Amino acid sequence: MNKTYRILALALVVLFAVFGGGCSGNQPGAQAVKSSGAPLAVKVLDIGQGDAILIRTAERTVLVDTGDTPSREKLVSYIKKEGIATIDALIITHPHADHIGGAQAIFDNFPVKQVYDSGQVSTSNLYKQYLSIIERKKIPFALLEAGGQIELGGGAALKVLAPEKPFISGSDSDLNNNSIVLKICFGNFSMLLAADAEKEAETRMVKRYGETLKSSVLKAGHHGSSSSSTLGFLKAVAPEAVIISLGTNNDYHHPHPSVIKRYNQQKIAIYRTDTDGTLTVTSDGSTYTIKKEKQ
Ligand SMILES: [Zn+2]
Repeated sequence: MNKTYRILALALVVLFAVFGGGCSGNQPGAQAVKSSGAPLAVKVLDIGQGDAILIRTAERTVLVDTGDTPSREKLVSYIKKEGIATIDALIITHPHADHIGGAQAIFDNFPVKQVYDSGQVSTSNLYKQYLSIIERKKIPFALLEAGGQIELGGGAALKVLAPEKPFISGSDSDLNNNSIVLKICFGNFSMLLAADAEKEAETRMVKRYGETLKSSVLKAGHHGSSSSSTLGFLKAVAPEAVIISLGTNNDYHHPHPSVIKRYNQQKIAIYRTDTDGTLTVTSDGSTYTIKKEKQ
């Protein structure tokens, strides 16, 4: 390799390191999504304790997690009410029940064109059922890891920030810490979906991406638990608003008061599905709005 090429190669590596968590190159150009009138709609669904996040552009419908089993009918009716006939991609961030519990109901009610997960396995029956349906229906299946990207159409994209290999091990919850973390990029708007990433994963992302983690909106990690939303992570993401997905009077006492205090200290507007219902974030690529189902 001659000197010029070496410098060029180095520059490319540096570029990746600098922009690895950023949104450069995603310019809006999408048509409106029918139900919201905006080209991008992200719904953090009120499905009780768990996560289920619906991402729509005029071209693609992506579901990130499926909530827990008790809310599966509610999940299916939400998606039907949206007029959605097909799910282009289902992403399971990690195989805990509050993220994978509604998967079977989704497979039973909608054609799913593609499934992505973190590659982490579980011994639970829910996980075994999930795998057997994918196999039986021959649904294309792939793993996501840091550096990956899924196009949403119209200039919007989902960047995969985590998990990173080798997986985090020896933490309080390795399944949580190796969750799939995504950043929705659409022009000037961005939204970081932190799944159930805990402090070890947050620290790793801050180290890898630094301030390129910066996002307009954050879906709080691990339902507002004290295991997540570390100060260093919040400072790097620097969101204007945070959305916490959680159930009313949940057994885990989420969100933790210390986390709420930290959001307030960082002047981050707090939205939560237990009191606000489903939260709908829409963007045209320059501005965004967050609408509460319950006023
Ligand atoms: Zn969870």
